Amino acid sequence: MLITQIIMKQIRDYPIVTTLSIAVGTVLASEVIWKLVQCSRSKREKASRVHEVIVFNELGEICAAAHMRNNGIGSQKPHMSPCCNAHCSLRNVAKIAEQIDRAVYSIDLAIFTFSSLSLADALKRALQRGVIIRIISDGEMVYCTGSQITMLAQLGVPVRVPITTNLMHNKFCIIDGVERVEEIRLLRKLKWMRPCYSIVISGSLNWTAQGLGGNWENCIITADEKLTATFQAEFQRMWRSFGKTEASRIQPK
Ligand SMILES: [Zn+2]
Repeated sequence: MLITQIIMKQIRDYPIVTTLSIAVGTVLASEVIWKLVQCSRSKREKASRVHEVIVFNELGEICAAAHMRNNGIGSQKPHMSPCCNAHCSLRNVAKIAEQIDRAVYSIDLAIFTFSSLSLADALKRALQRGVIIRIISDGEMVYCTGSQITMLAQLGVPVRVPITTNLMHNKFCIIDGVERVEEIRLLRKLKWMRPCYSIVISGSLNWTAQGLGGNWENCIITADEKLTATFQAEFQRMWRSFGKTEASRIQPK
C-alpha cells in the first residue's frame, strides 16, 4: 500500500490525531531544515570573513619532534596532532593549506621559490577538484633544488616567468579572485556558479621548508575585497606581460 493511501486511511480513522501529528511533524522537519541552512550559511560566512596574520618564528619548531613521534617511528611526514604551541609551524602551514582546500574555481600563485611538499599536495588536491591553477615565478628560482613548480608544470599547470634579470620576488596567492572567476565563467559558459570567496595569502613567506619552519616570516590571509581585487589585477597584468615564456614550457632541468 502506498504511503499516501495509508495516510488517507489514518486521517479517515483518526482525523484529529493524524492531522495534529502531520502538523507537528511538518513544523519539526522545517525547523531541522532551517537549522541546517543556517549552519551551512554561518560556515560560509565565517570562511568569507577570514582576516588574520600568521607569523613564523624561532618558536615554531619546538613541537616538531613531538609531531613526528605522533606519526609513528620512521615516518618522514609530520602529523597534525593536537599541539599547544601558539607558534606551531605545522599548524600555520595547515592554515594556508586549508585556504587552498577551499578553492572552488581558481588559484593564481605568484611565488619566488616553492619547494613545500605539504602545499604542493594541497595544490594537487585542488587540481583533482578541477580548480584552474596558474603560477608565476622567478626565471632562475623556478628551477631551484626541490622546486615544486616544475612538478606542477608537468601535471599541466601553466607557468610563466619574466624574461629579465630582475627578480620576480612576489609571494602572493589569490584564491577564487572575482575577476578570474568571472573570466572562467565566461570561458566555460557556466550558467550556475557554486558559492566561493576571494582570499589572498601574502607576506614575506616563500613556500619552502626554510620559510615555513625556521625563518622569521609573516603571512596575511584576508578576504578583504579591495586587497584581493588589487592582487588579482596585478596577477592578470603580469600573466599577460609574461605571456611569451609559457611557450617555452617549464621543465625540470
Ligand atoms: Zn605543533
